[in-house]
Amino acid sequence: MFKASVTIGRIAGIPIRIHVSLLLGIPLLTWLFGMQVQYIADGRELALATNPYVLGGLLAVALFVSVGLHELAHSLVALRRGIEIRNITLMLFGGVAQLDEEFVRDPSNELAIASAGPIVSLLLGAGFMVLSYVAGSARPDIFLVFLLLGQLNIILAVFNLLPAFPTDGGRILRSLLAKRKSHLAATKIASSLGQAFAFLFGIYGLISGNFFLILIAVFVYQGASQEYQASLLRQTLSGFVVADLMSYPVSVVEENNTVQQLLEQMYRERHSGYPVVDYDGQVKGCVTMEDVQKVEPRLRDFTTVGQVMSCTMKTVNPDDDIYLALKEMSGADIGRLLVMDGDKLVGIITRSDILKGFRLRMMEENSGGGVA
Ligand SMILES: [Zn+2]
Repeated sequence: MFKASVTIGRIAGIPIRIHVSLLLGIPLLTWLFGMQVQYIADGRELALATNPYVLGGLLAVALFVSVGLHELAHSLVALRRGIEIRNITLMLFGGVAQLDEEFVRDPSNELAIASAGPIVSLLLGAGFMVLSYVAGSARPDIFLVFLLLGQLNIILAVFNLLPAFPTDGGRILRSLLAKRKSHLAATKIASSLGQAFAFLFGIYGLISGNFFLILIAVFVYQGASQEYQASLLRQTLSGFVVADLMSYPVSVVEENNTVQQLLEQMYRERHSGYPVVDYDGQVKGCVTMEDVQKVEPRLRDFTTVGQVMSCTMKTVNPDDDIYLALKEMSGADIGRLLVMDGDKLVGIITRSDILKGFRLRMMEENSGGGVA
């Protein structure tokens, strides 16, 4: 979802990115705000000096800048607490600051970081309201732009403060609950509440025919369940290290083997990807079914694995935390990691290995502690 973005600059070292959905968002909002500006001007009998759609465009851009400042507030508080920010991405549905979640888990960090955004939005809202009051009806264009910007920022703050995951309000609620309950229990309550809110939004959206509300409902619902699942996964996998769940010995191919030999090995062992090693057993890269498919059948006997291997494999240590391995995989969008002890290949770990560990743990927990 975050892939189709471009970086437009950096603030305090944080890359600020714009998602392609904004290309759709800006014209759409320009049109909506333009209509709104005209509507209010008519209602208050104000004579505008500027085309309402020009003001609408200005508002659309200013809204995204406001969203950016909201995200920046989260990020700067996080930075001060030593948490790394990967980037801030502005999208059609607001913005996202990507933080290193591990450290946000501390309730006092989460509370401070989650509160910072809505506070900035409220301050911006109040500031623009004051400015619109100062401009007054003598300058209707400026008055209207500031008035709407003020309202939008306050709506932004209020919406984000709803105690419904994945909003800031949901995070604030979880951090408060987590002071007395386990992180998982707190997440469960906050995300159930999020789903309940999403359900209400959805119902109301359907009744009122408000398509936008239905979309928000879906977004909140998904976010809430993802957050809970991530939390459950982390809790269940805690204590496992890579060596506990990895597969070994690792089946490898030598870089001088032909593609035909590799294909036969794939049939025999039913693997779709292999680490590639040189004569001395040093890992050189990896080869997958896709690499094989690029070679014409008649050339398979004359092409070596070393010539077609295209992927590089990420590595983990056997004593790394299993959750770290999982994050590594999802971060790079890959399904397997090589387990290296120094420069020795000792195993391979895949998403399904981790899933197996997760299922075993769940079974253990569900049957454990009973009367034997
Ligand atoms: Zn926020």
